[in-house]
Amino acid sequence: MSKCKGYAAASSNAPLSPYSFERREPREHDVAIDIKYCGICHSDIHQARNEWSEYRPECIFPMVPGHEIAGVVEAVGSKVTKYKVGDSVGVGCFVDSCRNCHECKQGLEQYCRVGTIWTYNARDKEGAPTYGGYSEKIVVDENYVVRMPNNLPLEACAPLLCAGITLYSPLKHWQAGPGKRVAIVGLGGLGHMGVKLAHALGAEVTVISQSLKKQADGKRLGADHYYATSDPATFTKLAGYFDLILNTVSAQIDWKQYLDLLRTDGTMVVVGLPENDIPVAAFSLTTRRRSLAGSQNGGIRETQEMLDFCGKHSTPCDVEVIPIQKVNEAYERVLKSDVRYRFVIDMATLK
Ligand code: NAP
Ligand code: ZN
Ligand code: ZN
Repeated sequence: MSKCKGYAAASSNAPLSPYSFERREPREHDVAIDIKYCGICHSDIHQARNEWSEYRPECIFPMVPGHEIAGVVEAVGSKVTKYKVGDSVGVGCFVDSCRNCHECKQGLEQYCRVGTIWTYNARDKEGAPTYGGYSEKIVVDENYVVRMPNNLPLEACAPLLCAGITLYSPLKHWQAGPGKRVAIVGLGGLGHMGVKLAHALGAEVTVISQSLKKQADGKRLGADHYYATSDPATFTKLAGYFDLILNTVSAQIDWKQYLDLLRTDGTMVVVGLPENDIPVAAFSLTTRRRSLAGSQNGGIRETQEMLDFCGKHSTPCDVEVIPIQKVNEAYERVLKSDVRYRFVIDMATLK
């Protein structure tokens, strides 16, 4: 075991503060990573505040959040073949899975039937709590590590490990591309990557935000159109327009209003995870043979594909790098939608 410094929430109502814990020594197939940057995902806030208690009964404290991890390999186990010391690598939302179920065999480890082992707030195969990326290092099996694009700044790629893949996966699954009208609801961490990726895939992209405050940014990121929900005319103007709506909102919305924006056979994909159940009227779906679907992160193979895509199309995240001492302040700003568009912690400030 080796000592590791990080920041943790001691309980669901405590701010994050310095915390020391132990990481395992690298095993044969493990990669030890010196963490350089870690993004702040809204899921970190939901979990540190135990807002998903209805759906995930166990919340483990002290909790070291962070699943948008970018760093450099500092040691490898004797049987590691994929990475060597000095490589720029990433770790996303999970660090292991059963590897044998139907889903794992298809590269859908995020839907592992036995149980995906999340990067933090979970238990590993030995039952020990997992600790995330707001820390100086992490030890992960090489099969759950990905290679970062070498032509883009590392800090701007850290959030690709959750925000990037969580939007890339449904965009690919529902075939966003030329001729498709895609709406991204909510221009936050996930949403801004949704805009960049849908645009790079060739789709027509519309942002649906609460206001027009970020309109110029939305257009710069690749949106063709930008609408505010504060204007009631938005919902009449766009009725029946979209093939695909990706909903990244972390709070309750009026589901009927948004479903009405789908054309016949259109799909709305839920990626935002509010703490309560979502009310949906049957008629919102039957009227135009609409689908309401959900999507969670993406598998390892698809995450690598997304990173390579972002390298090729030069689509890093727009980030604001902060020292770790500002993490609690950053949480408050995320809650106020005051983030352009992802906070990333510079882990050198932990030392
Ligand atoms: P974020 O940066 O806070 O973005 C969420 C955006 O939603 C905000 O920027 C805001 O956009 C909009 N919004 C917030 N409150 C709203 C309200 N009351 N009504 C309407 N719109 C509102 O968060 P994020 O990191 O992108 O994460 C978004 C959600 O996705 C979270 O619930 C998170 O837990 C979840 N998530 C899911 C997955 C998955 O695998 N499915 C992965 C990662 C995160 P505007 O200012 O443009 O209105
Ligand atoms: Zn996340
Ligand atoms: Zn599995």
